[in-house]
Amino acid sequence: MMKSLANAVGGKTARACDSCVKKRARWYCAADDAFLCHSCDKFA
Ligand SMILES: [Zn+2]
Repeated sequence: MMKSLANAVGGKTARACDSCVKKRARWYCAADDAFLCHSCDKFA
């Protein structure tokens, strides 16, 4: 199985934020291995 995180980050994803799960994720945080929205990124 292959992970294609590069595609997920670079593409036009509509993936939900892994932290709040309410907003659309905008960043991939490698340290937390999670996708975060703009709001949650402030707390990371
Ligand atoms: Zn969030």
